[in-house]
Amino acid sequence: MTRTTASWQAADSAHFLHPFTDFQSLAKKGSRIITKADNIYLWDSDGHKILDAMSGLWCVNVGYGQQALVDAAAKQMTELPFYNAFFQTATTPAIELAEVLAEVTPPQFNHVFFSGSGSEGNDTVVRMVRRYWDVLGQPQRQVIISRHNAYHGSTMAGASLGGMSGMHAQGGLPIPNITHIDQPYWVEHGQGMDKEAFGLKAARWLEERILAIGADKVAAFIGEPVQGAGGVIIPPASYWPEIQRICDRYDILLVSDEVICGFGRTGHWFGCETFGFKPDLMTFAKGVTSGYVPLGGVMVGDRIAKVLIEQGGEFEHGYTYSGHPVACAVALANIKLIREQHLVEHVHDDVGPYLAQAFEALSDHPLVGIAETCGLMGALLLVKDKAKLTPFDAEVGIGMVCRGHCFANGLIMRAVGPRMIIAPPLVITRAQIDEMTALIRRCLDLTLADARREGWL
Ligand SMILES: *Cc1c(COP(=O)(O)O)cnc(C)c1O
Repeated sequence: MTRTTASWQAADSAHFLHPFTDFQSLAKKGSRIITKADNIYLWDSDGHKILDAMSGLWCVNVGYGQQALVDAAAKQMTELPFYNAFFQTATTPAIELAEVLAEVTPPQFNHVFFSGSGSEGNDTVVRMVRRYWDVLGQPQRQVIISRHNAYHGSTMAGASLGGMSGMHAQGGLPIPNITHIDQPYWVEHGQGMDKEAFGLKAARWLEERILAIGADKVAAFIGEPVQGAGGVIIPPASYWPEIQRICDRYDILLVSDEVICGFGRTGHWFGCETFGFKPDLMTFAKGVTSGYVPLGGVMVGDRIAKVLIEQGGEFEHGYTYSGHPVACAVALANIKLIREQHLVEHVHDDVGPYLAQAFEALSDHPLVGIAETCGLMGALLLVKDKAKLTPFDAEVGIGMVCRGHCFANGLIMRAVGPRMIIAPPLVITRAQIDEMTALIRRCLDLTLADARREGWL
């Protein structure tokens, strides 16, 4: 590479508007330029090695540098780089991937609608659930219920389904007929309550909302099994089965947004299997290709597929890249690798429990109020007072302080308010978990030293 880091940064801030970024403040600081990667590590343009505890953006499930995915892309690009699936045509990788997805997803799923991303997948969900009720002669069933602090993407429909108030504040969102209930976050809404009792209470907010709107107007409920971007909010075990019971009772479609939880992240192929519920639709993206190329989609349960196929006529919806052959070829290689290397079992039986222990050990740190994991997702809640879970003053930005130390010490960890979160590649080993938790502890110590020095405690 002949250009210097400074030259990359100058060109970056001159021309590249980054997603979810304050453009002016980034231009002042300059981006970190990532130039290569292998396994769970990244390198920046100054040669620093970084442990990527976030799998890129929750997506590089098989880790970086998997030659099988590279070869699959090269072979498909050579043979047939693109053809569409619109006008009575199909490509072989898309057909084969549809077949394989029916195998690895729960039994009620035998059909897939492809998109280019998770956001687009959720746009498809909105169109499809409304269309389903329309075909069944209940066009008044329009409302989709979601949750505050959910993340379902950044298109108009995706961001509307999401419950991020900052996103709703820009661009006239949410779109009509989307409403939000509170999230099942015990720290925010359940302190003093037994966790499982709280899980039932949080699920019943759905029932209250359905009754307030009128069940005959509600089309679907959507949720992430574990909220990812919202801060790795792991619901009590009682939550999802109760959500399922309520959806069944009022005949409301249940949608699981598996964009993060899918493809092994929680220790099963899909998060709904970990939490014991049976969705009618599942959105996927990210881990389906381990992020090597963009691909997303929606698994369509038999109940819906039957109606759309037998009674629906033309579904007036689709994307140029629905079933892109190169993306599908990479997804096939990715799923083959997950199966052959038994990565789901590796998470479930080995590194998932090992990470849980390692996080349990971190909970002795003076800053850590709660340490929790689900499969290979984890969160540390940073607090002023461990016993009372007293939060730091919001102005301190304790998570961002800690994240700054992670950045400077070769670790990528994300801060969501006071929650420090991780979701490392599924290929991580026990020794690498030890390496990661040693780095986390060092960064917590540096954050604690700041807090003492600055008088934040
Ligand atoms: C990332 C994400 C999305 C959006 O996916 P994009 O590919 O960024 O459009 C949707 N839902 C969840 C749960 C996500 O984490």
